[in-house]
Amino acid sequence: MSHASRQDKDIIQLKPKVGISSCLLGNEVRYDGGHKHARYLIDTLGEYFEFVPYCPEVAIGLGTPRVPIRLVNHASDIRAVNSDNPEIDVSEALSTYAESVLAGLHSLSGFIVKKGSPSCGMEQVQVFQNEIPWYAGRGIFTARLMQLLPELPVEEEGRLMDQCWRENFIARVFTYYRQSL
Ligand code: SF4
Repeated sequence: MSHASRQDKDIIQLKPKVGISSCLLGNEVRYDGGHKHARYLIDTLGEYFEFVPYCPEVAIGLGTPRVPIRLVNHASDIRAVNSDNPEIDVSEALSTYAESVLAGLHSLSGFIVKKGSPSCGMEQVQVFQNEIPWYAGRGIFTARLMQLLPELPVEEEGRLMDQCWRENFIARVFTYYRQSL
């Protein structure tokens, strides 16, 4: 409880809803059929938030398991394509899905995304150009989400392992939540 202010503690019972990459909750939705359960984070932040899971890749119809997608740079246009067949481009589907999620986002006060994912990552996602990787991209789903709703608190699970980032995120979510009441 040291992460929140007195005022935050008073309204914790209400538990703001926070969207989250589904694999972080332990759901087996990753390309390899596995998950990335962030147990410590979920247990810690679960004191404050009610999580609402989203998996953009499953939502757009990619099966589990599946061939992974990756980001590629085509003339400064970042695209999400099938790793085996770059002709299969799911960028539009991921963007459109983000827009459909946004339609229901009035009930969400934040979003926690999986780092490094070509769909969910928030920063430093691997992007390939002529088969050379560099780390400066943002997952297509999260990029669209942040573009359309820039005030929504969004954070990666990796950074939330740091207490300072975690406290900052909790404060931002509660501020957003209060403003929406
Ligand atoms: S698309 Fe997002 S939620 Fe789904 S498995 Fe990948 S990182 Fe997890």
